[in-house]
Amino acid sequence: MQITPAARLGLLPPYLFAELDRLKKEVQQRGIDVISLGIGDPDLPTPAHIIARLQAAASDPVNHRYPDYEGLERFRAAAAGWYRRRFAVRLDPAREVCALLGSKEGIANFPTAVVDPGDIVLIPDPGYPVYYSGCVFNGGEPYFMRLGKHNAFLPDLGAIPAEVAHRAKLMWINYPNNPTAATAERAFLKDAVDFCLKHDIILAHDFAYSEIAFDGYRAPSVLEIDGARECAVEFHSLSKTYSMTGWRVGFVVGNAAAVAALGKVKTNIDSGVFQAVQEAAIAALEGGEDKLHEYCAIYQQRRDLMVDALRSLGLECARPRATFYIWAEVPRGHTSGSFTERVLKETGVVVTPGSGFGKGGEGFVRFALTVANERLKEAVERIKALRF
Ligand SMILES: *Cc1c(COP(=O)(O)O)cnc(C)c1O
Repeated sequence: MQITPAARLGLLPPYLFAELDRLKKEVQQRGIDVISLGIGDPDLPTPAHIIARLQAAASDPVNHRYPDYEGLERFRAAAAGWYRRRFAVRLDPAREVCALLGSKEGIANFPTAVVDPGDIVLIPDPGYPVYYSGCVFNGGEPYFMRLGKHNAFLPDLGAIPAEVAHRAKLMWINYPNNPTAATAERAFLKDAVDFCLKHDIILAHDFAYSEIAFDGYRAPSVLEIDGARECAVEFHSLSKTYSMTGWRVGFVVGNAAAVAALGKVKTNIDSGVFQAVQEAAIAALEGGEDKLHEYCAIYQQRRDLMVDALRSLGLECARPRATFYIWAEVPRGHTSGSFTERVLKETGVVVTPGSGFGKGGEGFVRFALTVANERLKEAVERIKALRF
């Protein structure tokens, strides 16, 4: 028999990286040593005290059984404690915190909890692709909020038509931002909260890069804003902060009804985070910031290396205050795709075309600073030799 995938899979955009993958293989076959600045996955290892806690917890049979769906009480208390220390925000661990199998899981499942067919979901463009797939898998109707240089990569809330705001159920924002590396001030978060309260929209803030920041910058939490608890949730990840992408642990905090709705979906889909991983996450959240500062200093050095190199070539890019990405404009006469292709063919360096994050990313490319310093320096040297 012939297997036909469900129609919803046809709603996904074509896989833009297929051609890039093919090209990468071709370049490798020519004997060129490929350096990938394509994927935002830290090369720096998970700190040792976190690994040690996992090792100890993994051998305790107490942790071998099904975990509680919403996460260990102590895990949720650790998340709440971290929010109190970091943002002076007080959360009820029982009602306002839920553990996630990585924040991507929560982001993907959240629309199942709150979006009905025909509801509009406000999605940044360019943006993390999961906002879109979560929306259309649940029959939601995406409305794209363009992020560009003209608006400092912040959605122009005033430009959202009244009838769209009226039908919208959910708005995604993400600062510090992937892929643009833009940051938002508290004033923008306040505007977003006010807009969502006015129009009965649930505000979901993807806060994956909250701690990857430079030059003394401290990203604000949406929950610092008055009224946020009435409409907002924040998705938090340990992946980038503690170099734990492979561990699959994160958490959602904020509006208790929204957290409970997501929790209900999850009880029907997964069975919680391995308790030993939760123990390790507690060690991470309570383990101080020394390692984080060390890692941010490394990313900051890499940022300066890459920004200086790109500017010396005449490519325009900001020097971001957060995230480990550089979002650069492609030279005149190039598209995201043609520039990515040229860089790969001539230097063996893989970068991500901005168009892979939505139409609004056209004209840009994203460099991920997640390779060892020596490799990054090598990539920078090769890129510097390009002429446009
Ligand atoms: C990495 C990333 C995530 C997901 O991280 P998890 O590993 O699933 O916690 C979510 N949002 C953005 C914007 C990201 O870049």
